[in-house]
Formats: sequence, structure tokens, C-alpha cells
Amino acid sequence: MSGIGPRLQAVLARIAAAENRYGRKPGSVKLIAASKTQPAENLRPLIAAKQRRFGESFVQEALNKIHTLAAQDIEWHFIGAIQANKTKAIAENFCWVHSVDRLKIACRLNEHRPAHLPQLNVCVQVNISREPTKSGVRPEELIELAAAVTALPRLRLRGLMALPSPSDEYQEQREAFAEVREMMEQLNRHGHNLDVLSMGMSTDLEAAVAENTTFVRIGTALFGPRHCPV
Ligand SMILES: *Cc1c(COP(=O)(O)O)cnc(C)c1O
Repeated sequence: MSGIGPRLQAVLARIAAAENRYGRKPGSVKLIAASKTQPAENLRPLIAAKQRRFGESFVQEALNKIHTLAAQDIEWHFIGAIQANKTKAIAENFCWVHSVDRLKIACRLNEHRPAHLPQLNVCVQVNISREPTKSGVRPEELIELAAAVTALPRLRLRGLMALPSPSDEYQEQREAFAEVREMMEQLNRHGHNLDVLSMGMSTDLEAAVAENTTFVRIGTALFGPRHCPV
């Protein structure tokens, strides 16, 4: 993985430039290295360069890495689709879950979050109009799901996640992210206290920063193209 150091610096520079351009506070946008399909060895140069947040999409693959890298100071984020039979492993091993999209999953995460750990930070994934996958709650169901998640004592609802289909059009990218930002603002007007947006990937992080994102989830721009099917 030679080249990963310069790629990390390039991504951090893009984030800093976007913060500056859009009037965001320096350091307010946090980088999650989306490390699915990357072996633990490929994470080490990033860890050595002080990258602390990693996002994983597949539970078994993630557990192997979490085990291998147990001595490292890493904050693990689960960003993939969640199967009900994987909620225990997720609740026990992750600090954040970005992809909660139905109540059944939220209830199981709540049930399985170990008492000795702090509350599990969660984002609800919303299926905005341009989202390619079927995952994510539909906007008209968001208010109800957010209220139900908030009532679960072992979860802490932090915000919203979205995964719009890739677009080369900056304006289109911004419109998709603006929808998500507005949904969060609406929830906060309804009495929520959400402080996190999780949106923006390798090709559209600038548009996400412009629309107030907190986390960008970056894979390709850090690790190079993925060779394994995902
Ligand atoms: C893979 C992945 C990313 C990173 O995508 P890149 O385009 O490689 O930066 C971000 N979010 C989720 C949910 C992913 O699965």
C-alpha cells in the first residue's frame, strides 16, 4: 500500500479546503476511512498517520479486523446494511452505527448493547430520491422512526446518513445532500437534538461539506479502487 500516506494527506487537504470554502469551522468535518475489503495490514499505515475512525460494511470481515487491530486506538463505525442476526456482533463491537433503517434493527441493537459500554451512537439512514439501493427509511416514515429510536435507552440517536447515487454534477450532489440536511433540521424543529450528518464519499465530499456534513466516509480516494466485488 505505498501511496496511502500521500492519499490520506490529499483527502485531508480536500476536506480542509472545502471547510474553508464553505465557511465551516476548521476540523468540524471528520474523516471515516471506509475500509471494506481492505485487509487489516492496509489500515496500519493510516493508523500510523493518526487516522482513528474506520467504517466497515460487512460484519464478519469487520470482526476479524477489530480482533487483529485490538491493540490500536480505533473508533469503529458500522456503515453497511444490517441483517437482524448480526445486531449482537455490531452492538458489542462498534462505537457508531450509521445504517439504522428500521425499528426492528434498532430494538435489537438496543437489546444487545452491553451494559458496560456507553450508549451506541446511531444514525438513521434515509432513502432520499436519488439513492440507488433500497436501504434507508422513506422520508415520510422518518419522524416516526426517529421518535422510536430516541426512546431506546441504550442507543443515542445522533443524526442522519445518506448514500445518494454517484453523480458528476456538483449541483445534483448538493441537492441530494441538502434534502438530508433539511430533514435533520426538521427533526430538530420537532424537538430532537441531532448533531450529526453522515454523507459524502470519494467523489462528492465537497458537496457534502457544503451541506453541513459531519462525517465523510471515504474509501477509494484513500485505498485506491476496490478489486473485490462489494
Ligand atoms: C464503500 C462505502 C463508502 C466509500 O465509498 P468510496 O466511493 O469508495 O469513497 C462510503 N459509504 C458507504 C456506506 C460505503 O459502503
